[in-house]
Amino acid sequence: MVIPTNFPQRASELRDLINKYNYLYYIIDNPEVPDSEYDRLFHELKQIETDHPELLTADSPTQRVGGKALDKFNQITHAIPMLSLDNVFDTEQLLAFDQRVRDWLNTSESQVYAAEPKLDGLAISLRYEQGVLTQAATRGDGATGEDVTANVRTIPTVPLKLTGNDIPEVVEIRGEIFMPKAGFDTLNQQQIADDKKPFVNPRNAAAGSLRQLDSKITASRPLEIYCYGLGEIQGMNKPDSHSEAMMLISQWGCRISPELKRLTGIDECMEPITHLGARRESLPYDIAGVLCKFDSIQLQQRLGFVSRTPRWAIAHKFPAQEEITIVEDIEIQVGRTGALTPVARLKPVFVGGVTVSNATLHNQDEIERKDVRVGDTVIVRRAGDVIPEVVQVVLSKRPDNTVLFSMPTHCPVCQSEVERIEGEAKARCSGGLYCAAQQKEAIKHFASRKAMDVDGLGDKLVEQLVDEELIADVSDLFQLTLEQLSALERMGEKSAVNLINALQTAKQTTFSRFLFALGIREVGEATARALASHLLTLDVLQQADEETLIEIEDVGPVVAHHIVTFFHQAHNREVIDRLLVAGVNWPEEQKVSSDSMISGKTIVLTGTLEQMSRSEAKDKLLGLGAKVAGSVSKKTDFVVAGRDAGSKLSKAEKLGVSVVDEATMLGWFSL
Ligand code: NAD
Repeated sequence: MVIPTNFPQRASELRDLINKYNYLYYIIDNPEVPDSEYDRLFHELKQIETDHPELLTADSPTQRVGGKALDKFNQITHAIPMLSLDNVFDTEQLLAFDQRVRDWLNTSESQVYAAEPKLDGLAISLRYEQGVLTQAATRGDGATGEDVTANVRTIPTVPLKLTGNDIPEVVEIRGEIFMPKAGFDTLNQQQIADDKKPFVNPRNAAAGSLRQLDSKITASRPLEIYCYGLGEIQGMNKPDSHSEAMMLISQWGCRISPELKRLTGIDECMEPITHLGARRESLPYDIAGVLCKFDSIQLQQRLGFVSRTPRWAIAHKFPAQEEITIVEDIEIQVGRTGALTPVARLKPVFVGGVTVSNATLHNQDEIERKDVRVGDTVIVRRAGDVIPEVVQVVLSKRPDNTVLFSMPTHCPVCQSEVERIEGEAKARCSGGLYCAAQQKEAIKHFASRKAMDVDGLGDKLVEQLVDEELIADVSDLFQLTLEQLSALERMGEKSAVNLINALQTAKQTTFSRFLFALGIREVGEATARALASHLLTLDVLQQADEETLIEIEDVGPVVAHHIVTFFHQAHNREVIDRLLVAGVNWPEEQKVSSDSMISGKTIVLTGTLEQMSRSEAKDKLLGLGAKVAGSVSKKTDFVVAGRDAGSKLSKAEKLGVSVVDEATMLGWFSL
């Protein structure tokens, strides 16, 4: 047969690439491409070799297991080789596997399978002599592994001594060492904090943690084990089935997967595949798929191996959660609260069960740490419903003309200045009052009870008004007409009248409520009050520089910076002007006199007041420098008791706290 000239060349290219990726993955624990890309190349090479057996070379990676054992470790020869596994990606291929094996066995009978998760870690062989752990070895190239005994001894779930009776003289137990997702996240946070490169995924982290020369490092890493089979046994007959072997392993005190199932016929294997697939995200560790193994050891022995994989087992892999694609652009998304998030626009790629064309890059630091540039080929991950993210750049595929990203100095939505406080990861838009990306949150906050207190203007209604384009910023609220409101869906005439009245009422406010309502970053109620009582007027506040502001109690340099930047934005000032023109007003602030008799005192209001609402009284008391608390304690100085005062009054009497009436309180105000 004539082989097209490009096949030998492609086969050779694929062998080189796969050997390179094997080296990066198995030897130095630093993979460059996702498994999906590797699997594609591997399958392509296998297909060429199947179609053109003349092209199969003895040293082809399709004929070998994993990578070579590293010289820095002592080498251990496995008594029984540790192999790889064949895999399939859908039901059709799984059924074809079952059919193929039954044909080989010349039987039409359903076979008994053992199904268990294919854990995403690395294989280990544990040798116990007289029940004591004497040796632990990695798989290496399948024939020779690395001696990692000292490291494995530090893993709490690996028994150093087997328990129970009937322990063979020598037994080799095989299992998977893995790192749970939670431990992986914590480890990576620590790596970043220590300025070290984070691990790409839990599998990579587990391998890197186990293959250390210093077992103290391994001991500090959150590694675990699930055992899944037996190797060499001396002094005891081999069990008849895989499930029996697993029972023995468990009785000896080794962990086995709680998901292990014994099933009849390949159809029944579909149940754990579907079930584990659905629970994949909620499992505390990563799994790559489900393994279906012939349960009978006698049949396993009869079936034997083909080059690097047993004929009696198959891995049904789950859809890849990591894929490779290209960053076509990096754009900025402005969130509801003004946070600027860089987002990679990707060449669409099917990953985690959906087509992904955007992935978050989190912030500038992340982009710099990962060195992601426009034009780069990257690994993108989408696990479950989590927002897709760029995991790392495939540097070997970086073209010459990549473009570096830098955070814009002005918000792409409203052109206000972008500020980034030292120590904070996120950059933010400072045009909070005006920015279209933030309008809904800004208006909801403005109308809320502790701010302008617009009765009847709830979150849903704000959303409706913005969506209908009746308002774009807070000043538009005061331009709303009865006709516009009554024409709204689910809004009756009466509610519309009530809202117009509530808006009218809300115009009379206090300076501190108004300041709080503006939604300046980190200016809460208390800071707004401190600003109002110290600076007294909006004009003074707008002119104040950071030095002036930090002299006020409660105002630190970060808040001062936020305030100055906020008033520096022309758009924010325009909105404020429109609010004032619409009639928003407040009584002139009185300088808090530190000698006022209630200054610094803690006061609790209870019962119904006759002359003013409780919230008005609270504002006045605060204006006089008092603290207003919600509950009575020994620290309370006065309880102001209105009509029908109840439990707070009784408590005050019990604790001996001074109780005064409304008239006394009014007296304080007129002093
Ligand atoms: P494999 O897929 O051939 O499976 C064999 C391994 O499965 C065993 O050695 C064992 O460690 C593991 N395993 C997990 N749970 C098990 C269980 N319950 N019972 C038995 N074994 C279990 O593994 P492999 O040969 O190490 O690797 C092949 C895969 O590794 C590829 O399909 C690819 O996805 C990935 N890989 C990726 C890269 C890369 O660059 N991204 C490079 C090389 C390999």
